Amino acid sequence: MEKSDQNKKRENLQKEKNQIFRLLPRVDDLMKKENVQRLAEKEGYERVLGAVRDSVENLRNEISQGIKKGISEHEAKEMIQKFLYEIESSSKKSEVNHLLEQEQKKEIQPVYNGTGVILHTGLGRATLSHEIAEKLKAVAENYSSLEYDLQTGKRGNRTGYAEELLCQITGAEAAIVVNNNAGAVLLALSALTKGGEVIVSRGELVEIGGKFRIPEVLELSGAILKEVGTTNRTRIEDYKAAVSEKTKAFLKVHTSNYRIVGFTESVSAEELYELSTGLIGRTQELPPENFENHTERSEIPVIEDLGSGVLINLEEYGLSKEPTVQEEVKAGADVVCFSGDKLFGGAQAGVIVGKKEYIDQMRNHPLLRALRADKFTMTAIEEVLKCYLDQKEAVQKIPTLRMLTRPVEEIKEKAMVCADRWNQEGASVQIQVEKCISKAGGGALPETEIPSYGVALESTEITVEEIESRMRNLSVPVIGRIKEGRFLLDMRTFSEEGIEYLATQIRHVMERKHN
Ligand SMILES: *Cc1c(COP(=O)(O)O)cnc(C)c1O
Repeated sequence: MEKSDQNKKRENLQKEKNQIFRLLPRVDDLMKKENVQRLAEKEGYERVLGAVRDSVENLRNEISQGIKKGISEHEAKEMIQKFLYEIESSSKKSEVNHLLEQEQKKEIQPVYNGTGVILHTGLGRATLSHEIAEKLKAVAENYSSLEYDLQTGKRGNRTGYAEELLCQITGAEAAIVVNNNAGAVLLALSALTKGGEVIVSRGELVEIGGKFRIPEVLELSGAILKEVGTTNRTRIEDYKAAVSEKTKAFLKVHTSNYRIVGFTESVSAEELYELSTGLIGRTQELPPENFENHTERSEIPVIEDLGSGVLINLEEYGLSKEPTVQEEVKAGADVVCFSGDKLFGGAQAGVIVGKKEYIDQMRNHPLLRALRADKFTMTAIEEVLKCYLDQKEAVQKIPTLRMLTRPVEEIKEKAMVCADRWNQEGASVQIQVEKCISKAGGGALPETEIPSYGVALESTEITVEEIESRMRNLSVPVIGRIKEGRFLLDMRTFSEEGIEYLATQIRHVMERKHN
């Protein structure tokens, strides 16, 4: 008896639902409505069709939930009426519009960076100059001489010119460019250390981000990790004691995204080079069997993952010391890997420079093909390298270096001009210039606080969270940070173009009500 009661109830509910669902608008009919057609012309038929379909589906779910919670048939009908009204009146609030907007938010698109983090991984790390962007555009729209040698009319090498420039700039014997630095490290280890042991300091067994951990990369390369030293201190003797005939390489990893400070000690590439050469081994008494197979210099390469890869002396610009690629090559590192879109200031790539015999082994490794860099990357890397032929020029022409080295007085001046410009718009907002701190980001110069100036916005009408959200939802999104209850845009990373753009938007952003 009870059971059939329940069944009856369920049947009734289903009947009620079916009746209401029959009132739901049909997607085909909605697509025929005049303003939906207009929208389809603007946004593309398929996109709008998808949004309309999803919005009807959302309405159906909403009503279905509502019925379960006991709303009346009348209320359900009202929901449908409201939905139709919003579509017919092209209301901004309509579900279709909302879905289209949300969809657009998923696209990769330009943003203005007011975070003060120069190499912001979330915002695409390094930016390129206008000139280089123009060259990329030309290469994108046209065929290019990517692997075609214009001097001979024969097949060329896509990385050939970049490699030539790299050797010229870094003083290395040979170079190779791959898709990213994680790939560069993997390639170097796979080609040079497979089946053997790689000696690494316990202070350098780092995670670089996104599950890329040195011990795991080593395992993937087919090498065995031989840890030496401790987290804070590792000495050359520790490496020496760990050397055996199984040793295939010394690996040094730049601890780029953090620093161990205080009671620390680490071993330089130069010391490892000397150890590898056997100089230390011969002058001090080392168990001879350890060196049985290693009297020749070339047998244990020093591989260095520099991470950020700086090619200029940052100390000259008042920043803290970062080992340059040139210095490490000179010190004897046999293989140096670094990223193309960190302090180098190019595009996502992995750059490897070093001794020819090792680079040749990488060139012949099957992984190289899997890690191949594309034509846009190669174009950008070539162009950025051309800038490095003259150091002074590099600092001016490469946006990353320019932002990093720009004197704080210039940033202050820019912030004042910006505040004036925005004040002229008469928006209801308090605008203040104030000191702040920029960061290199991208795992470079982690402990360096770069003095800077920002423009802080505050409103008595809307919350700072609302300002942040509206800025992020502009048609060209403006990304800043909330500091002490105000929305702060750091002028070291915020472009002149961004200042002008926000001048045209600031009144709209600061309006008390939206929609
Ligand atoms: C950033 C970094 C990497 C990874 O470089 P990608 O170009 O992002 O692949 C590897 N090693 C170190 C030390 C790094 O700082």
